[in-house]
Amino acid sequence: MAVPRAKTSKARTRRRQGINMRLNAPTLTECGNCGNLILTHRVCPKCGFYRGRQVITPESNG
Ligand SMILES: [Zn+2]
Repeated sequence: MAVPRAKTSKARTRRRQGINMRLNAPTLTECGNCGNLILTHRVCPKCGFYRGRQVITPESNG
């Protein structure tokens, strides 16, 4: 089995790990029923619709 010749430095490790440490904005899409901006593959919290049908009763408080 191959053995590394030198220890990986903190800088090198962190540079590598930093690639996936970026902050990314979540992908938003419009609800097909009410046009509310929602996360993909999530039930719309406003109207409770997902894939064209009502799956939950939306909570109306306020
Ligand atoms: Zn909706």
